[in-house]
Amino acid sequence: MLGPDADADEQAFELSLRPTTLADYVGQRRIKENLGVFLTAARQRGESLDHCLLYGPPGLGKTTLAHVVAVEMGAQIRVTSGPAIERPGDLAAILTNLEAGDVLFIDEIHRLGRSLEEVLYPAMEDFVLDLVIGSGPAARTVRLDLPRFTLVGATTRVGLLSAPLRDRFGIVEHLEYYGEQDLADIAVRSASILGIGLSAEGASELARRSRGTPRIANRLLRRVRDFVQVQGADAIDRDNAAAALERMNVDRFGLDVVDRRILSTILQKFRGGPVGLATLAAAVGEDRGTLEEIYEPYLMQIGFLDRTPRGRRATPQARSHLLGDDLFIG
Ligand code: ADP
Repeated sequence: MLGPDADADEQAFELSLRPTTLADYVGQRRIKENLGVFLTAARQRGESLDHCLLYGPPGLGKTTLAHVVAVEMGAQIRVTSGPAIERPGDLAAILTNLEAGDVLFIDEIHRLGRSLEEVLYPAMEDFVLDLVIGSGPAARTVRLDLPRFTLVGATTRVGLLSAPLRDRFGIVEHLEYYGEQDLADIAVRSASILGIGLSAEGASELARRSRGTPRIANRLLRRVRDFVQVQGADAIDRDNAAAALERMNVDRFGLDVVDRRILSTILQKFRGGPVGLATLAAAVGEDRGTLEEIYEPYLMQIGFLDRTPRGRRATPQARSHLLGDDLFIG
């Protein structure tokens, strides 16, 4: 229910809720202001926007923002992802098919192989493509000009990006978790698109349990709608939202299974900590970068986890929250 990624059905649903312009994009005020300036400046000069790197946990609106950039530039967007591009030839085909001003969106860009990154460097920097034709002693390199385009890269794991690739992005923005008011605004906006009645208190209840993440806010809205409809109520309000969320086992802080596993591991196996990141990762069965870049930031933001020089520590708030939890034994 609270997993960060979207399946195919959810992707279609999300598409209908995706804001298309910067003005409709809720929250992330600093990024919106910066991008607004860069977009206006590029438009005034009649140029394409600098390459942008967007990073942050899943579901915070990186893909949405890439589409917004294209709309704001009046450009077409081509969408691909790191794992979908296997060989340098695949990337060369994508690049040579771009038209002037296009936005090329590469999701999970940290998963591009090194040989692909090398194709990307001259393309990003000088808008050229170096093709090797033939092999062995007869091989020669042909340089092709590419149209000017904007690469928008998205990643949840910025730490995995090579420094030379990161340095080639003129604009680098970190998406933050959303505050409750922004999430409530997103829920209200989505409810109005879907024709669902949602009171302000109902929206706050959803927002509080959305783990700072718009994708989860939209998902909870959809599920709560089912409960409320079956009960025969005509709108989502605080009480029926809270009751539905309880029945779905969404806790008051919107923690997901991995969040709870991290906290209960620290509390039970390591007596509250401090425990080193590598040890914790092994005990939880997650990769340490995933813990550090995807899970810990939210737990720290809500005051459940401390990073100390001697390791990670669960806070008293985490303890009292988890003590009432089914997963917590001891
Ligand atoms: P990411 O690419 O970071 O995983 P997405 O861009 O796919 O996240 O966003 C997930 C869903 O959340 C989108 O379909 C959209 O409906 C919603 N969403 C994300 N950011 C915002 C925002 N700032 N305002 C309104 N809705 C948003």
